[in-house]
Amino acid sequence: MERVEQLLRDMGAALVGFADLRALPEEVRHGLPYGISFAVAVDAEIVADVIDGPTVEYAGEYERTNDMLDQMGEAVAEMLRAEGHQAVAVPATSSVGLDLRTLSSVLPHKTVATRAGLGWIGKCALLITEEYGSAIRLATVLTDAEVCAAEPVDESRCGDCTACLDVCPTDAPTGELWEAGVPRERILDAFACMRMAKEMAGRVGVRHIICGMCIAACPWTRRYLECSR
Ligand code: SF4
Ligand code: SF4
Repeated sequence: MERVEQLLRDMGAALVGFADLRALPEEVRHGLPYGISFAVAVDAEIVADVIDGPTVEYAGEYERTNDMLDQMGEAVAEMLRAEGHQAVAVPATSSVGLDLRTLSSVLPHKTVATRAGLGWIGKCALLITEEYGSAIRLATVLTDAEVCAAEPVDESRCGDCTACLDVCPTDAPTGELWEAGVPRERILDAFACMRMAKEMAGRVGVRHIICGMCIAACPWTRRYLECSR
């Protein structure tokens, strides 16, 4: 898997992790036992400007990082298939084409990321990493190529922080601490979040349903922003 990690790093990945997914139902992982989770960091200056809501630049960055991730996923899947393995690239999540009935995907990238040891689910229901906070975008490749899987992260490291609750204009986060297996609805009212994100994105004329205020407010993200100055 060193070649896979090198390829992802060469293509711009900020974080790469390997997960054993066999504890998850087969149907959500295409019957494949392992997951490769990788993240692209969102530009720190652009995130810093999202403190009061989404911007046109943030929407552009959302598209840029999603395009990067999709290219990276395809390149990794192609490499693995050329070596005789099965591999399925799961594209980055986009608000365009999102299932509006559930606002979720069959196998969320952030679930694979926690299994790959990259971080935990915060009180805002996003993946939080020590290196970038939640200022990342994620994608996944599922495979049968054996990986050296990381120790999964099973518990929140949010502690008594409430920064994302305090900043949210619609009180979407419930404040409950995540642990592996806790359903999203106990942590976040995803429909309230989506309504607010749609309204705020509409105010600045962007087509993606994005907000970003809780991303910019998270102390782990703030640390990334400060270190990038
Ligand atoms: S994205 Fe915006 S609306 Fe949704 S939880 Fe975060 S701050 Fe609240
Ligand atoms: S702002 Fe605080 S509570 Fe919210 S995800 Fe970040 S660390 Fe967790």
